[in-house]
Amino acid sequence: MNSSIEQNIIDVKKRINEAALKSGRNPDEIFLLAVSKTIDVPKIKEAVNCGLNSLGENRVQEIMEKYEPMGEGINWHLIGHLQTNKVKYIIDKVCLIHSVESLKLAEEINKRAEKAGVVMDILVEVNMADEESKFGIKPKDCENFIRQLSLLKNINVKGLMTVAPFTENPEENRIYFKEMKKLLIDINNKKIDNINMTELSMGMTGDYCVAIEEGATIVRVGTGIFGERFYNK
Ligand SMILES: *Cc1c(COP(=O)(O)O)cnc(C)c1O
Repeated sequence: MNSSIEQNIIDVKKRINEAALKSGRNPDEIFLLAVSKTIDVPKIKEAVNCGLNSLGENRVQEIMEKYEPMGEGINWHLIGHLQTNKVKYIIDKVCLIHSVESLKLAEEINKRAEKAGVVMDILVEVNMADEESKFGIKPKDCENFIRQLSLLKNINVKGLMTVAPFTENPEENRIYFKEMKKLLIDINNKKIDNINMTELSMGMTGDYCVAIEEGATIVRVGTGIFGERFYNK
């Protein structure tokens, strides 16, 4: 019998396929990141057993706690706000940091990556809707920020990430996804040394189909896979 997680994953993948085909895209271009924050290890393992071995966490502490129990073969992504003083704990554990939004943080990642002998893949978090409560840099500051990042040898800017506003109606976020794709193209067209961005990390459970229609290459889905989250910490 299918576990509900297994069934959820089948459903999410089906919707990803439909959204891709609807917008004339190849479904293989879209990467499903399972957001496992607050979810316990046995449940996460169910998802991994269904083939989802890339996991997104928004807190360094949770990656640290789950890293050993989850074992080898997991690609960890940090998707939440990262404090500069915590970079050292995850530099050898994550494969992509989605939430770079200050030069100070980028410089620390660069420094720690150099020490560890790696080049860290990162995304720039953009606050597309200019929400006060959200992290991320303003779209108009993005080009200059990326020019500064392009000088840091041990980070590789793969693309942009946004957390769109919470809304019941995903159509309301279409404009932000569309604008972020345009921003990526505009900045690529500036031909900045070392900058050729390919990734758009956008879309969550409530709006990933719309995000895909507007060009998302990474969708971050938590609730749609694991069900509702319970915060008890
Ligand atoms: C929690 C979280 C998600 C997943 O949210 P769902 O609505 O549960 O899919 C995606 N991105 C970030 C940055 C998150 O913190």
